[in-house]
Amino acid sequence: MRESLHERELLLWTAAHLVKPYQLLIPFYTHNRRRPWTLETGMLLYDALSRGKSTPRHRRLSRREAIAAYPGIEHRGLTGGIVYVDAYACFAERLAVEQALDVRAAGSSVLTHTAATELCPGASLIEVALRDELTGNTTTVRARSVVNASGPWVDSVLGSVQGWRGHRLIRAVKGSHLVLATYPDAPSTGIHFEAMTDGRPVLVLPQSDGTILVGSTELVDEADPGALSCSDAEIAYLLTEANRLLPSAHFTQGDVLHAFAGARPLPYAASAERPADISRDHHVVSHPTVPGLFSLTGGKLTTHRALGEMAINRVVDHLALQPRRRSRPQGPRRHAALRRASCSPTRTMPLPGARVADWHAFAAQCEQVSTMPAAVRDRLLAVYGVRALSVYDAMRDRPGLPALIRATNDVTTAEVWVAVKEEFARTLVDVVARRLMLARTADAGLGAATAVAAVCAELLGWDARQTEQELVAYRSWSARLRPNCQSASDVSHNHH
Ligand SMILES: Cc1cc2nc3c(=O)[nH]c(=O)nc-3n(C[C@H](O)[C@H](O)[C@H](O)COP(=O)(O)OP(=O)(O)OC[C@H]3O[C@@H](n4cnc5c(N)ncnc54)[C@H](O)[C@@H]3O)c2cc1C
Repeated sequence: MRESLHERELLLWTAAHLVKPYQLLIPFYTHNRRRPWTLETGMLLYDALSRGKSTPRHRRLSRREAIAAYPGIEHRGLTGGIVYVDAYACFAERLAVEQALDVRAAGSSVLTHTAATELCPGASLIEVALRDELTGNTTTVRARSVVNASGPWVDSVLGSVQGWRGHRLIRAVKGSHLVLATYPDAPSTGIHFEAMTDGRPVLVLPQSDGTILVGSTELVDEADPGALSCSDAEIAYLLTEANRLLPSAHFTQGDVLHAFAGARPLPYAASAERPADISRDHHVVSHPTVPGLFSLTGGKLTTHRALGEMAINRVVDHLALQPRRRSRPQGPRRHAALRRASCSPTRTMPLPGARVADWHAFAAQCEQVSTMPAAVRDRLLAVYGVRALSVYDAMRDRPGLPALIRATNDVTTAEVWVAVKEEFARTLVDVVARRLMLARTADAGLGAATAVAAVCAELLGWDARQTEQELVAYRSWSARLRPNCQSASDVSHNHH
């Protein structure tokens, strides 16, 4: 927890445009399995482990104060609560995109849609066969060290190592979230409460676009992690719990705008029977039969940087023990040079979108001087941070492009240009879902997909057939989100 809290504090600065402080209430109910004093002790520990943090410490609320601040929550059995401040990354994929931009800027290659299909360990090098999943082209790279960071697919990548004899490393635990339409009495901050069904923690998270995120579930699921979808039973569980907490919401299936599911790549332990028993720690695992190969297990989005640093340090240690080459520094000098990598600059280096002396001053200044419509300006700042300026340049330099994507009131065509030309996007799903972040909006990006596809077609040279194939692929990808487009088109209105 100390590491998580430390990394969270770093992210509030190094990714200030993407990671924001977020207030939550923990309500105390007489039916809770955890007693108020247990939660309060937990919170004292939480504050003690994050001493010196930029966000305020927790605050205790009486029953009266809790009802005054959150009038829409269930009053029966409520005895009080705690308000605390966590952090929220609305666009997790954008964190990954910005890391990739830095990786390229540091001189490395970024190959998207490229699968490692076979690993052949040699005397000092590991040969990795790669296949471009869009073109079918294959190629081979040789490396003294390989890091298998494929999350829930770690074991399947290890299965492709020639002569592999190792044990299982990952237990994939499925989790789902619902995106619900808002309603008049909706809470103004997040609420972290205990599910009555099974005592698990569940979160209700109001979002800036007026939708409400509710999640998550926890189920051991051995299905293909890339094909997971929120089940009817998970929807029913989350709606029941949200309605118990927020009785005036009367959420029904019809209010679920869409739902998404993912797999947590937790460390495998044969003895852990329930998902809650599985360790949430992360590890860099070496493989004695394949020197130079490392696999990552566990880990959270919050601690991705720390786990990356741990992995790189293991690689550096491995390389330091490798046979010397004449052109490189020798002995202790070499080890010292390599060791310097252990003080990773990522501890203090802002991501490209936050690379400015004072992000908050920059954002405030943009609000004052920008002549763009407020919705466009706010979106550009929230998604791109200071890189909003390069989107703005793309807009200015291409006056032929229509300014806004049809069916949206804030998404600029220039963003598609930036996604394709600067941010490695190759498919419509890449652009809509993982760069423009429209899969997170009420209609799961379906409304904007056709207009985005037309711009992509121009930039990527798609003919009419390929453009249609990309649209079909988007519809089929987004079907896993179970979009409810009828209510999605009316998200800003009262859902009843
Ligand atoms: C419901 C849910 C809630 C969560 N909540 C939180 C939270 O509140 N806070 C938090 O910090 N974390 C949270 N997490 C955890 C976090 O999302 C994951 O731990 C994190 O995404 C794992 O990152 P990863 O890079 O290891 O795996 P992934 O993000 O799954 O990435 C693995 C990548 O490997 C690629 N790959 C697979 N096979 C191959 C191959 N053969 N060759 C090349 N590439 C391959 C895949 O395409 C994929 O892009 C949550 C997760 C879930 C599911």
